[in-house]
This record gives sequence, structure tokens and C-alpha cells, in this order.
Amino acid sequence: MIPGQVIEGRHEPLVSKELFLAVHNIREEKRSQGFVHNKENDNLPLKVFTQCDKCKQPLTGYLVKKKGLYCYKCSTKGCKVKRSAKAMHDLFRNLLKIFPNWKGRV
Ligand SMILES: [Zn+2]
Repeated sequence: MIPGQVIEGRHEPLVSKELFLAVHNIREEKRSQGFVHNKENDNLPLKVFTQCDKCKQPLTGYLVKKKGLYCYKCSTKGCKVKRSAKAMHDLFRNLLKIFPNWKGRV
């Protein structure tokens, strides 16, 4: 075993974990600043945390009652960006795979 390799092997997961925590902290920070005005919805965990692709505003979420499906949408007037919650969560799950130390529920 070459000592340098061991250090390098340990280095990467550590950075990834830090990145994950950074993401988590941004969420916490936004919450403490009062960005989240609605009660946290377990079905829409990415609400406010994610941004609109077009105008970079935080996405809000809602339930399509007819279909029983949750959606994220942009809150900017006239922007009309919408994403199904399922598609967003799949994307986010894939994103979390780059953090090897992340073993949480997703
Ligand atoms: Zn938008």
C-alpha cells in the first residue's frame, strides 16, 4: 500500500459528503430566512430548494387533485415552467448517487 493512495481514496467521499452538507445547509438557511412560507410538504421535498430553469426563481409545488399527482412549478408570472414531482425526484436521486457516503432515505 502506498500511503498517498490511501489518502486519496479517503479524500473523495469526504468532499462529496461536504458537498451534500452544503446543499443541506443552503436549504436550512433559506428556511431560516423565511423563504418557506408553506408548511413543509413531504411529497414536495425539493420545493423552494430547486430553481426554475428559465428565470432562476425558486420553484413552488402543488397537488394536481384530479390526478393525485404532485408537481413543481415556477412562481414567476408568465414563466409557466412545470415539472412532475416524480421526474424531479428521480433526477435528484441520481444526483445523490455522486455522494458515496450518503445513505439517507431518498
Ligand atoms: Zn421561471
